[in-house]
Amino acid sequence: MPIVLVGTFGIVLLAFLIQSGTDWVHPSQAQAFSELTRLPMAVLTVVLGGRLILRDDLEAGERRSWVLLGMAFVVGLSAHVVSLAQALTPGSAPFPAVADYLYAAPIPAMVAGVMLLPTAVRSRAERRKLLIDSLIVVAGACTALWYLEIAPLLQTPGADFEAIAFAATVPVLDLLLLFALATLVLCRPNLGLVLRLLAASILLKVVTDTTYIMAIVQFDVVYAPGSWPFLLWVTADFLVLLSAHHRLQHDDLRGSARRTYPSFGWLPYVAIALAYGMLVFVARRESLYALGGMILGAMVLTGLVIVRQVIVQRESHRMAVTDSLTGLSSRARINERVAEMTRQPAHDGRCKAVLLIDLDHFKPINDTYGHEAGDAVLKAVATSMRSVIRSGDTAGRLGGDEFAVVLPDLPGREAAEAVARRLVEAFSTPVIFGDLLLNVEASIGVAIHDESTVSQPERLLAHADVAMYVAKRTGRGTFCLYTPELDPRAQDAELRRAVANDEMVVHFQPVVRLTDGHEVGVEALVRWNHPTRGLLMPGAFIELAEETGAVVPIGEWVLREACRQAALWRQTYPQAQHLTLSVNLSVRQVTRADLESTIADILAETGFPADHLVLELTESVVLEPDEATVARMAALRSRGVGIAIDDFGTGYAALSYLRSLPVTVLKIDRSFVAGIDTDADAWAVTEALVHLAEAFSLRVVAEGIETAEQATCLRGMGCEFGQGYHYARPMTGAAFAQRLEAVRLGLPS
Ligand code: C2E
Ligand code: MG
Ligand code: MG
Repeated sequence: MPIVLVGTFGIVLLAFLIQSGTDWVHPSQAQAFSELTRLPMAVLTVVLGGRLILRDDLEAGERRSWVLLGMAFVVGLSAHVVSLAQALTPGSAPFPAVADYLYAAPIPAMVAGVMLLPTAVRSRAERRKLLIDSLIVVAGACTALWYLEIAPLLQTPGADFEAIAFAATVPVLDLLLLFALATLVLCRPNLGLVLRLLAASILLKVVTDTTYIMAIVQFDVVYAPGSWPFLLWVTADFLVLLSAHHRLQHDDLRGSARRTYPSFGWLPYVAIALAYGMLVFVARRESLYALGGMILGAMVLTGLVIVRQVIVQRESHRMAVTDSLTGLSSRARINERVAEMTRQPAHDGRCKAVLLIDLDHFKPINDTYGHEAGDAVLKAVATSMRSVIRSGDTAGRLGGDEFAVVLPDLPGREAAEAVARRLVEAFSTPVIFGDLLLNVEASIGVAIHDESTVSQPERLLAHADVAMYVAKRTGRGTFCLYTPELDPRAQDAELRRAVANDEMVVHFQPVVRLTDGHEVGVEALVRWNHPTRGLLMPGAFIELAEETGAVVPIGEWVLREACRQAALWRQTYPQAQHLTLSVNLSVRQVTRADLESTIADILAETGFPADHLVLELTESVVLEPDEATVARMAALRSRGVGIAIDDFGTGYAALSYLRSLPVTVLKIDRSFVAGIDTDADAWAVTEALVHLAEAFSLRVVAEGIETAEQATCLRGMGCEFGQGYHYARPMTGAAFAQRLEAVRLGLPS
C-alpha cells in the first residue's frame, strides 16, 4: 500500500513538474491536465476512507467522524470529475461554476468530521474553555481575513452578486476550517500521527487558499493550474490520504505519551497579537491617527485582562495542587507527580519510589481532643515530612490522615528505605497541643518503580498501599518495602499452599476448673510452621487470612485436625473422655451456608462427639448475626455443639446476642483478668461479668490467668473455669498427650 501511495503522489508531482517546467501542456488544456492528474489521488482517498469506515474495531464516535470525512472525500472527488468535464467542454465556464461549488462543498463535512473526533478533554468546563480559545483564534484570523480578503472582495466594483458572494464564502469556509483545526490541536495535548497529518493538511489548505485569494484581491494576480499554489493543494490532499492510510494501519488515534497540559495553549494569545498587529498596520497605512490611541488603549486593556487571567489561573491551579490545611501537595498533584515519574523506567542504577503514609490511632485523637488537636497533628506531620525530604521530592496529603511522598531520583532502594526510616523517627516526636502531648505514629509503605509499573502509576500506588497495610499489621509505627510476595493475592496463595503442604499446626491450651485446677478441656490454637520465617503465631497471619478468605480452609483444617487428635486421646486415655475441645471460628466460617454440614462431616469422620465440641466466636462475629447465622448456630446447638463468646467485653457490649444466639460459654477477655488483683475497677468489672454469665446460665471461663493471685481473685468471685500461662501454655498435641499419659500413670504433671 505505501508503494501505491508514494507512486500516486510521484505521478502527480511529475505531472506538476511537466506542467510548470515545460511547455508540453497547452494553456488551454492546463485545467483539464491538472484535474486529470489529481484524480487518482482523490479516488485513493475515497477508497481508504471507505475501508476505514467499514473497519469493525472503530469506536462509534470516531466512525461518525470518518463517515463525515469520507463524505468530504467523495464530494472532493466529484469536484475534480466535474471540473475535468467542464475543462473538456468547449467555451468558457461562468464563475462560479458547478465545480467551484463542489470544491467548497466538502469543507462543512470536513469541519464537522474533525470537530467530532473523540477528544482527550473530558469535563464540561474544560470543553467550554477550549471552545472559547478556538473562537479567539478564529476571531484573530477573521480580523486579518476581513481586511485582506473579504472586505475588498465585497467591494469589487462591477462584479455580479453571485460571484462576489461565492468568492467571499471561501475565506469564511477557511475560517471554519481554522476553527476545526484550533479545536483539534487545543483539545488534544498530544496528537498522534494520524491527527498531526490531518492538522497539517488543513493548515496547508487554509494558507494556500488565503494566499491564492489575496494574490487576486490585492495584486490582481491569478495563479494558473501548474503554478505553486496548486502544488501546495495537492500536498494538502496527499497529507489527508496519508492520515487515512496511517489510521488504517494502526490501532489508536491517540499519541503514545500522556501529558496534562495542552502544548498549544499559547495559540489564542498569538491570535490576539495578530489581530492587534493588523489593526496597528491598518491604522498606520490609512493614517488613522485618531484611532491609534484607542487601539493602543485597547491593547493595554487586553494585555491587563490577560495578565489578570493568568494570575487567577495560577492561583486556582495552586489551590488545586496544594492541601489547604498542611500546605503540602494535594492528592491531584501527587497523582500527577507519580504519573510523571512512572512514564519512563529508572536508569543508571538510580531509583524512583513512592511512600504512602497512614497515621496510626489518629481517629481517637480527633474523637477525644477535637478537630483542632487533629489539625495540629496533621500540621506537625507535614512539618516533619518537609524536614525529611529534599528538593525535587514531593510530599503531599491524600486526605484524612493519609500522606504520600514521591521520590523521583534516589541513588538506590536503600535510600528509599532510609527516607522511610527518617520519617518514622521524625514522627516519633510527640506533638504539643495546649498542655497535651499527643503521640503520633505512622505506618509507611514503600514501593519502588520498576518495569512492572512503567506507565502504571495506579499500580505503583497500589504496591505502596499493600506495603503500608503490611506495615500496619506488623506493629504500626514502622515501614515496609513492597515485594511481590506481599501482594494479598500472593499471600493468599501462600496461605492456601501452607494448608495443602501441612505447614499449619495445632497447639492446645488446657482449660481448668479453678477450684481444683482439674483440666476440663482444651482450646485448639493454630500456628504456622513457616518454611523460612519459623513458627508464626495467629497474630501474624489470621487477620490477613480473614481478609483474603484463606481462613476458611485454614479453619476447616484446624477443626478436622483438632477433632482427630482429641478423638485419639479419648480412645487412649480414659480421663480424656470428659475433655471439651474448643475451636476458634472466624467470621468468614460462621457466615458460610455449609458450616453445619462441614462440622457434621468432620465429627462423623473423626468420631469426636458433638456435645464435647465448643465453637468460639468473637464478639465481632456475633455483633449483629443475620437470621441465617442464628439458624445455623441453633442447628449446631441442637446437635449438642457448644457455642462460646470469646474475648468477651472487648467488643461492643451489646448483650442482645446473648439472647438471640444459643450461647453456652462466656470467655472473659484477658485484659480484665490482667489487672484483677491490683485494680479495683478491673476486679469490679470482672465480677460483674461473672454474675452476668451466671444470670444467663452460661459457663464462664476467664482467659489469660498468669498468676496465682489472679486465680484466687477469680475463684473468690465465683468464676468456675479458667485458662492461662499460670496453668499451662499452649502446647503441641504430642506434649498434651504426654501430660495425659503422665496423669494415667499417676505421675506429677
Ligand atoms: P483466643 O481465642 O482468645 O486465644 C487465646 C490467646 O491467648 C492465645 O493466643 C493464647 O496463646 C493466649 N494466652 C493464653 N493464656 C495466656 C496468658 O496467660 N497470657 C497471655 N498473655 N496470653 C495467653 P494465640 O494462640 O496467639 O491466638 C491468638 C488469637 O488468634 C486467638 O485468641 C484466636 O482469636 C485466634 N486464633 C487462634 N487459632 C485460631 C484458629 O484456628 N482459627 C481462628 N479463626 N482464629 C484463631
Ligand atoms: Mg479462643
Ligand atoms: Mg480469647
